Amino acid sequence: MTCSAPHPSVLLCVLTGLWLVFCLTPRMPAAVQADSPLPEDQRVEVSQPPSPEDTAAPDEEGEKPKLIALTFDDGPKRSTTSALLDGLAERGAQATFFLIGAQLEGNEDLLLRMEAEGHEIGIHTYGHVQLTALSRADFDDQVERTRAILKRVLGHNGFLLRPPYGSLDESVRQWAGAPIILWSIDPEDWKDKDTARVVEHIVSHAEDGSIILLHDIYPESVEAALEVIDRLHAQGYYFVTVSDLFAENSVTLEPGEVYRQVEN
Ligand code: ZN
Repeated sequence: MTCSAPHPSVLLCVLTGLWLVFCLTPRMPAAVQADSPLPEDQRVEVSQPPSPEDTAAPDEEGEKPKLIALTFDDGPKRSTTSALLDGLAERGAQATFFLIGAQLEGNEDLLLRMEAEGHEIGIHTYGHVQLTALSRADFDDQVERTRAILKRVLGHNGFLLRPPYGSLDESVRQWAGAPIILWSIDPEDWKDKDTARVVEHIVSHAEDGSIILLHDIYPESVEAALEVIDRLHAQGYYFVTVSDLFAENSVTLEPGEVYRQVEN
């Protein structure tokens, strides 16, 4: 059988050849997913630094990569959130944004951009109020109202919840309708807006499975976040969304349960 004959069978030859090449080509292993215990259809794309082999020191424990989640509260704010999204995109890093419902109008394009670029979106109430000791109606006015806006803009449900100030009570847990995500590293970036201090705090506390709290409404925090990514990429960390962080560690997030980090 020859592939040079000018005959309709040439197409079959070419297709057969391509199929053979396809079958014989070894698949490029996705390093981060290699040890994932999740079934293939539940695996998530994990962001990678541009050249992990070049920048990351070999993981002493072997195969499992170190995963960490950056989370940003109190946005969106057009100027700073856009700058952050640009920086995350340049670095191939994913993050999670806990948004204020009252700030969504006019910023719908930012929400769509977040999602299109692989970030996760969560609820941080409509008006940044403490959720404890609220009536059900007042709770819904903060959480359900924000959820409804997100559903309308993004066309799906399933948003994590972060209560302002991390304030919780039994009612918040019962009514949350979503996993409640707190944090394990809080550099208090709002206090002095000191980029260098915030970076040092985060880098010195970073562990596999950490959840970092920042606010993307301050330019200094955006700058700190991007520097943290560069520093921790060089230590072999991968920046993933909160849901991916837990999924990759085989933890199923449950509504009303509180999560601060992946327990290692
Ligand atoms: Zn907040």
